[in-house]
Amino acid sequence: MRCRDDDSARADGYDLAMATVEVNPNLGAQIVEDAKEYVLYSWSTQDAINPIAVAGAEGRYFWDYEGTRYLDFASQLVNVNIGHQHPKIIAAIKEQADRLCTIGPPMASESRSRLGRLLEEVTPGDLCMSFFTNSGTEANENAIKLARLATGRHKIVARYRSYHGATHGSIILTGDPRRWPNEPGMGGVVRMLDPYTYRCPAGHPDPCPVCSGAPHLEEILEYEGANTVAAVILETVTGTNGVIPPPPGYLQAIREVCDRHGILLILDEVMAGFGRTGRWFACETWDVVPDILTVAKGINSGYVPLGAMIIREHLKEWVRGRFFPGGLTYAGHPLACASAVASIEAFQEEGIVENAAEVGGYLGDGLRALAARHPSIGEVRGLGCFWGVELVKNRETREMLVPFNASGEAATPVARLAKASLERGLYLMTHWNVIMVVPPLTITREEADEGLAVLDETLAIADEYVV
Ligand code: PLP
Repeated sequence: MRCRDDDSARADGYDLAMATVEVNPNLGAQIVEDAKEYVLYSWSTQDAINPIAVAGAEGRYFWDYEGTRYLDFASQLVNVNIGHQHPKIIAAIKEQADRLCTIGPPMASESRSRLGRLLEEVTPGDLCMSFFTNSGTEANENAIKLARLATGRHKIVARYRSYHGATHGSIILTGDPRRWPNEPGMGGVVRMLDPYTYRCPAGHPDPCPVCSGAPHLEEILEYEGANTVAAVILETVTGTNGVIPPPPGYLQAIREVCDRHGILLILDEVMAGFGRTGRWFACETWDVVPDILTVAKGINSGYVPLGAMIIREHLKEWVRGRFFPGGLTYAGHPLACASAVASIEAFQEEGIVENAAEVGGYLGDGLRALAARHPSIGEVRGLGCFWGVELVKNRETREMLVPFNASGEAATPVARLAKASLERGLYLMTHWNVIMVVPPLTITREEADEGLAVLDETLAIADEYVV
């Protein structure tokens, strides 16, 4: 969809009055050329990158220097929960920059203190004290550090279908193949299977030892020695590894096993937190409060880098009289904290979490309707604005449309679908055989319909491979 032509853009309801659309293809080409030459890209074969030069963004859309506009069904990296260029956050950053751009972590600063207090208010249970970081991975690094210190134990149980970040410890907690080139790395990580009911690793008997949570974890603890295990770390809803919500009762069972053995439960809500699931925090859906909650992304939609490790009262008490051996020069950066305060207030004032539940439910219904028309859809799962569409070659056998860890030729069917969607103005995130449908939480029904209509067209590509 192009917004170069003002009339056609307005006819689409696109408010050009709010944003300046700069059409400058030569500048766009130069930006891409320089990016290829001088910027090392994450998780990419460097020769294969071909980034979109983004000239601007607003709400659920971004656009390039050609004037082509894209509906952001990925919220970039599932982090722009509030949408692009929210005026309240921009104003807060500007105001904070005028007053105090930076100040070190040993000082107290207004935006940091206010954010700490706000996080105590919006998080569930007695989660009450925050250690600020610049990213999700650093929040997880500090969570395992604290868990090991507080328990005096060293092992951490983590799952295979997980991503916890790219730094030294978090990438080893990560179960997916992004871990492999980083091994051996940090020791002490014990692996647990996932409650992935659609492809249950235990064959899903009734009751299932893996999908019900407790028996599988209990068995691992028997072999490992429960008193050597500091923590279990889980994504409350598995994100990039397929958007997999836990089955009913699973999280409660894991919580109970942890409590019985004095093991801390760390819930990584870097992706699932801040309204993504239609609740402030995903764990509220199952009434489970972790000992440590890690967050980033949606805390301020990435307007300024920020993450946090948030701890419960009992850990706050434990840490009070002790030295905490960790820190970051930019921890609790004033600009980041001011943007997060503004974002949380906007969430409260504008009912953004409620919108995620309401329009997200509508989106989920739309995806299920697509499943009725497209035989390549094996399963639609998710909640709020957090959906995964799993693609298969055959619904009976559930053979994956693109195999586990596929790249190159093997990944073609989904790569074609994503490319065709982009050509129709829909930006999607895909992971092997799963399309992630994760738009900003401020999405409207009309925008959901726009994205669904494109998907309806491009899923025909996946259907071609059905046998
Ligand atoms: N944890 C989860 C569940 C994530 O999805 C991510 C990033 O995608 C991270 C941790 C790492 O966050 P960051 O990239 O901010 O370090």
